[in-house]
Amino acid sequence: MADVVTMEKIVSLCRRRGFVFPASEIYGGLGSSYDYGHYGVLLKENVKARWLEAMVRERDDIVALDSSIILHPRVWEASGHAGGFADPLVDCRTCKQRFRADQLAESSCGRKPSKRPGETPDCDLTEPRQFNLMFETRVGPVEDTGSKVFLRPETAQGIFINFKNVAQLARRKLPFGIAQIGKSFRNEITPGNFIFRTLEFEQMEMEFFVPPAEADDWYRYWIDERRDWYLRLGVRASHLRVRPHDADELSHYSSATSDIEYLYPIGWSELEGIANRGDFDLTAHTEASGTKLEWVDSQSGERYAPHVIEPAAGVNRSMLAFLCDAYDEEVVAERERTVLRLHPLIAPVKAAVLPLIGRDAEMAGRARRLYEELRRVASVEYDDNAQIGRRYRRQDEIGTPFAFTIDEQTLADDTITIRDRDSLAQERISIARGREHLLDLLEQPWRSPKPD
Ligand code: ATP
Repeated sequence: MADVVTMEKIVSLCRRRGFVFPASEIYGGLGSSYDYGHYGVLLKENVKARWLEAMVRERDDIVALDSSIILHPRVWEASGHAGGFADPLVDCRTCKQRFRADQLAESSCGRKPSKRPGETPDCDLTEPRQFNLMFETRVGPVEDTGSKVFLRPETAQGIFINFKNVAQLARRKLPFGIAQIGKSFRNEITPGNFIFRTLEFEQMEMEFFVPPAEADDWYRYWIDERRDWYLRLGVRASHLRVRPHDADELSHYSSATSDIEYLYPIGWSELEGIANRGDFDLTAHTEASGTKLEWVDSQSGERYAPHVIEPAAGVNRSMLAFLCDAYDEEVVAERERTVLRLHPLIAPVKAAVLPLIGRDAEMAGRARRLYEELRRVASVEYDDNAQIGRRYRRQDEIGTPFAFTIDEQTLADDTITIRDRDSLAQERISIARGREHLLDLLEQPWRSPKPD
């Protein structure tokens, strides 16, 4: 059966359930900027938490960092961004739209029926010109050239320039990595496709420093490891692929790059890039700053700039992939339901606590007590408003994997039902075991019931 998900359905669900709103909406919106509501924040925080767990908490060889967004302007000269972080831009004099010259084949111009830019004799495209993607701003009250700074377009450079600090203090041996999550900013020529490409976004980047001779092995290791992370969090294997870059696609710093791509409703697109950056960055910053960013082998005394393998993922793009992979519709007892089949560890709310009859003081009281107990260990929601069927559907739409229902029988024998979001199976357990049972459920492996 074909996947029912479309980008329109995701955008509409995100809006309806308060995951994501257009930014500055009351002023007419600001193209391709989004604000995250309650469930969007919880989902995004879960994506970041799972990444930090996999990268830092569960490993001994990676440490965390949080560097500044505004760095010394010379950082971007040394890294090559001031000169080279540009996309080729073309304008159409007829329809007045802008396109990325390297994406003309996938773009459509503003006219109806939609055409590829340059497809008709009326199209009047300019020659491509390079457009730097970095946002500029100023430090201090005086507008002179010395005060010009940039908002970072990637978090990686903040890691490289801290290499010496971390290498001295982290008490690690090579290979070791530095991981950082944070906002990045790019003045994209053609932002769009909801939160896939926006002007500000969050990145999860890790720079793994290795002896040069081991770089190829670690490059392959990180491609596998990162693909596995998405699989472990329930993304279907059929919707993930690894695409090595052709030589002419490689960035100025990279000797090899592979993208992990997800089959979004817009087609296969980059979710994460894994690059072998060689010693480009450490060497460039050593030359530009005069500070030696090198590794001294304590046994041989040998000094060298380690090579770097970088898995660079986007928080928002990952969130979009998780949402697309999870979206499902089905008919149950002649009623249609929309359900987000999110991995329980990614789901914004882990369990809902629902008194069958909200007006029943005893049921509501028991439910409240259970809720107070569960919220100490997980993100849970209490809801006593509306028919139980509507409350279940609301939880299905936000992807809540488990619902605990307190009913008449609870009052008689202290048992509650647990409803499973995916199978709709209901099980009765003792209310006293509620918390323990939820924690057990959250530890179970989970697979998407959607066809792979
Ligand atoms: P693209 O080719 O799609 O522009 P990129 O190759 O320039 O992406 P990287 O510089 O490798 O992207 O950044 C690492 C990750 O950051 C990307 O895989 C993506 O998940 C995320 N990312 C990059 N640009 C954006 C953006 N404008 N909006 C949202 N996420 C982004």
